[in-house]
Amino acid sequence: MKIFLRSYGCQMNKLDTALVSSALGEAGFSVADSEKEADVVLINTCSVRQHAEERVFSHLGHLKHIKKSRPGLVVGVIGCMAQRLGDKLLEHEAVDIVCGPAQIPQITKLVTETLQEKKKKLAVSEKIRQRSPESQTQALERFESAYGIGDKQIPGQAFVRAMRGCNNFCTYCIVPFVRGPETSRAPAAIIEQIKRLADEGVKLVTLLGQRVNSYKYPAPPRGGAGKKTYSLADLLEMASEIEGIEWLRFVTSYPAEEFFDDILQAIADLPKACNYLHIPAQSGSDRILRAMNRRYTAGEYLGLLGKARAVVPGIAIAGDFMVGFPGETEEDFEATIELVKRAKYKNCFIFKYSPRPGTTADKRLEDNVPAEVKKRRNIELLDVQNEISAEMNREFLNKEVKVLVEGLSKKPHLNRGGSENSPQLVGRTATDYIVVFNGPVSLAGEFVKVKITETSALTLFGELI
Ligand code: SF4
Repeated sequence: MKIFLRSYGCQMNKLDTALVSSALGEAGFSVADSEKEADVVLINTCSVRQHAEERVFSHLGHLKHIKKSRPGLVVGVIGCMAQRLGDKLLEHEAVDIVCGPAQIPQITKLVTETLQEKKKKLAVSEKIRQRSPESQTQALERFESAYGIGDKQIPGQAFVRAMRGCNNFCTYCIVPFVRGPETSRAPAAIIEQIKRLADEGVKLVTLLGQRVNSYKYPAPPRGGAGKKTYSLADLLEMASEIEGIEWLRFVTSYPAEEFFDDILQAIADLPKACNYLHIPAQSGSDRILRAMNRRYTAGEYLGLLGKARAVVPGIAIAGDFMVGFPGETEEDFEATIELVKRAKYKNCFIFKYSPRPGTTADKRLEDNVPAEVKKRRNIELLDVQNEISAEMNREFLNKEVKVLVEGLSKKPHLNRGGSENSPQLVGRTATDYIVVFNGPVSLAGEFVKVKITETSALTLFGELI
C-alpha cells in the first residue's frame, strides 16, 4: 500500500507529518511520489489563516475528482482544520478520515480500518480546552518517542517538540482552540530523543513550541532530590552536552520577561546555542497590541531586543507582523513601520489579518480594514524590511561563513556556473541566513565554509572554500 502526505502550515505540522510518515512506514506503507500512485492521501492542515484553509479545500476538490475514477482511494485530513471543523469536514465528499492533532497516535489504526471497512472515521477532541486525559498525553508521548527520530526531512537536522498547545489567547489566533492547553514535555523525554537523533547523525536540533520560551516542567534536579522547574535555558544546557549535536535553535519566542534573562544567558554561554531569536511583535501600535491581547508595549518589546543584543552581541533577530488587524489606522501602521526600522530584523514574516472563526477578534471586532489597504500595507512593510535586510546582508560580502548544507536549492535556474557534479546548493548559517553556492550534493547534512561573493535582501551567494 502506498501513502502520499502533504503538509500545510508551520513547523509543528511538518513535525507531525514526519511522525505520521514514520508510523505508517513502520506499519508497512511505502511513500508514493504523487497522489496518482497513492492508495491513501493524508493532508496535514493549518487553520491559522483563511488562505491556508482555502488551499486545503481546493486540494480536496482536486481529490474529489480523482476519487471519481478511483473510488478506493482513502483521503484523510489531519491537523488543525480537522480539529476545528470535525464532523463538518467529514461530510466533504472526498474525505474519509478526520483526525485532530491530539489523535495522531491513532493514525495507523484509522487508515487500516478505513481501507478495510470503507467507512468514514472521525477522531478529534470533544473539549479541546480541557486538559487532556493522562492516557492521551501518554499516547502522544509514546508516539513522539517512537517515531520522533524517523523521517528527517533535511539531512542532519531535526525538529523536537518541547511543548504542545498555547494558553496565550491572542485575540486573532486559532491555535489555543485547535492545539489545546499549553503542555511542556518532560525534559528527560526531550533529551533522550535528542540523544537518539545525535546517534543518527543529526547536528542541528530546533526545539519547537508556540511560546517555546515559556517552557516549564517541574521535576527533580539532575542527580538530586527535591524539585526544580526546568526552563528552556535548562533544556539548552542539557542538549548542549550531547555529543554530535553542534547547533541548537528554538522557535517561536513570545516577547515576555519570564525566563528571558536566563535564556539569553544560556545563548551567550553555550557555544552550541545559535545566536538567533525569532520573536514576533505583530504590531508597533500599543493600541493594536492591546486589542490583540499581546501583553507588552512596543517600547517593552524594543527593550527586550536591546537586552538580547547586549547579552548576545551579533544575535540575529527575526520578527512576525500582522497588518490590517481590525481598527488598524494609518497611524497604527506608521507605528509598525517605525518599530520595524528600529528593531533591525534579519528578516520578517508579514501576514494580512484574516478573521478566524471562534476567536475573540472574530466575535467582537469588525474586519474593517479593506483588502486593498491590507495588501498595500503588506507590500509597504515588506519593502521597508527588504531594505534593512539588504543592508545587513551586504555586511557579509567577502566574509567566510560556516553553513550547514540542506541540499539542492529549490531554484536551480539561479545556478551560477554550476555543473552536474556541482549543482546549486542551499544551506544556513547558525544565525539562519540563507546561503546559496555550488557544490556536490553529497555535502547535504555537512558543515562547510563559504565565502560570500554577492548578496540580495533574502539570500547570500558564495563560493565553497
Ligand atoms: S502566542 Fe498568541 S499567536 Fe502564538 S500560538 Fe499562542 S495565541 Fe497564537
